[in-house]
Amino acid sequence: TWFQDEALQRVLALLNADSGEGRVVGGAVRNSLLGLPVADIDIATTLLPETVVERAVAAGVKAVPTGIAHGTVTLVVDGKPFEITTLRRDVETDGRRALVAFSDDWQADAERRDLTINALYASANGEVVDLVGGLADLERRNIRFIGDAATRIAEDHLRILRFFRFFAYYGSGRPDADGLRACAAARSKIATLSAERVWSEMKKLLAAKDPGRALLWMRQVGILTEVLPETEKWGIDAIPGLVVTEQALGWAPDPLQRLAAVVPPDAARLAKLGERLRLSKVEASYLQDWANAPGIKDDASEAAFDRLLYRYGPIGIGAQLKLALAVARGKAEGDFEEMARTARLSKLLERTTRWKKPVFPVNGADALAAGLSAGPRVGDILGKLEQQWLDSNFALTRATLLARLKELIES
Ligand code: ATP
Ligand code: MG
Repeated sequence: TWFQDEALQRVLALLNADSGEGRVVGGAVRNSLLGLPVADIDIATTLLPETVVERAVAAGVKAVPTGIAHGTVTLVVDGKPFEITTLRRDVETDGRRALVAFSDDWQADAERRDLTINALYASANGEVVDLVGGLADLERRNIRFIGDAATRIAEDHLRILRFFRFFAYYGSGRPDADGLRACAAARSKIATLSAERVWSEMKKLLAAKDPGRALLWMRQVGILTEVLPETEKWGIDAIPGLVVTEQALGWAPDPLQRLAAVVPPDAARLAKLGERLRLSKVEASYLQDWANAPGIKDDASEAAFDRLLYRYGPIGIGAQLKLALAVARGKAEGDFEEMARTARLSKLLERTTRWKKPVFPVNGADALAAGLSAGPRVGDILGKLEQQWLDSNFALTRATLLARLKELIES
């Protein structure tokens, strides 16, 4: 198994020499107990970060001080990174960040983590060390805060969202009652968190195979509206775009596709949403593409639809259509308008599968031959020409386009 990995064992041996100790902790232990893939391996140690670096250097192991002030050193063995963090205890917290002190107390290190299932350790021999009752919770798939839920949330309000994120991935049944109550009571504190932390956590939640249960609980207790006020006026049946399952679609919608389903496909509203959540440039432009997708503007003409296929490609457009279809189908029963919409969307989807991208019949060499000199103007003019060709629904011939090219150069 991954635990017998030579590189990992080498790192642990390095930490365990003399009086030190290192144990794998968090997601790696949790996931391997669940039989799920392990992403990255975090290791906790009693050694101070300087000592970790010293030992690594002496053993010829690459050490990167990724967050030495917080006690984290990354060791790289056989090209694999391992994050080594010195045991810590909280000295002071204000709900947004924590002041921590190094310690050599495993119990204190476990108790400053958020959830019991995230506080399991594994020693070099594979033995699991459970200091907070995480094993029993993991077995029952019970997502539970360590200690008093309200206190733990007051220390770091992001834990509200983490509770639902881990519930979406590993929980079953109803969320833990104490946890749910404490999250609901503290929901107004979400607004004090930085948008980046909120979106990074929400993105992971929305990447779950089936985030529906978690999102519906969040909505039930007024937390979803704190994060996405756009969902406030939803009726009970209007949430499907966000919660649609992989099973229903045959493919897994990514977090941005789910997010885009939250507001109407209107460029301005999506831009506002993206700004509020501080999405990256790439993420924001993805939302803009979505705004132009016909999956939702299903009354677009075939010509307009073909132009979108040309611009955005059949894969992206097809994916968006399928999502829109799943949403429409969810609402279609007994609703004639939605039924008609379903039929229109199916037709567009069918068109997508048959579509072949037309080749723009003019290129850079033509522009140069027409007298343009190499430079940014070539791209500008060819772009304008291509738009004219698109507007003609690909009807303009090469001869006509070459004539227009001359006009554009001379204008
Ligand atoms: P995955 O990486 O699979 O999403 P993970 O459990 O590794 O899951 P991370 O967010 O990478 O989650 O955090 C690593 C560990 O650090 C967690 O398992 C938890 O013990 C601790 N942790 C992370 N964030 C917090 C927090 N806000 N409050 C308390 N403990 C936290
Ligand atoms: Mg992790």
